[in-house]
Amino acid sequence: MDRKYKFSWELLGDIAKGRPNLGQNTRLEVYRIMQFVFRDVIEQHVGTEKTNQIFYEAGKLAGVEFYRNSFSGITDFNEFIKSLQESLREMGIGILRIEEADLEKGALVLTVAEDLDCSGLPELGYETCIYDEGFIAGLLESFTGSPFKVTEVDCWTTGDRTCRFTAQVIK
Ligand SMILES: [Zn+2]
Repeated sequence: MDRKYKFSWELLGDIAKGRPNLGQNTRLEVYRIMQFVFRDVIEQHVGTEKTNQIFYEAGKLAGVEFYRNSFSGITDFNEFIKSLQESLREMGIGILRIEEADLEKGALVLTVAEDLDCSGLPELGYETCIYDEGFIAGLLESFTGSPFKVTEVDCWTTGDRTCRFTAQVIK
């Protein structure tokens, strides 16, 4: 397939140069509007299931690229997590905690508080952070070299006050 929009980190541009007055920050609503209108329009084109798949895969691509840009070269798991926690906090993505990590079994439970995508949303009766699921999968796959399935089990939109994700290596 001829590709016009293949992602690269360079596409993010030179923000310092491009936004000398406005800088790195925007209001969170802007990010959320973009995510939710994409979800709406994509769903109208391809249905709910495919939309979820697209969000998961897009999140995963983001996780892989974020890893490549920020964490490649780290070999120690604790060091990786510490560095990831710092980045996610500094970038305002969320406050990451690891509740359980059994690396031999490839099973983890992670929480993200004050999550960029969902904290403060109304209760919807379903988990909403599908992009985050993919994002975490992309990070874990990049670090471990093994494929992961990440599932959000608690979310602000299911009445919880932190997002909780299970991650399981795919055998
Ligand atoms: Zn959530």
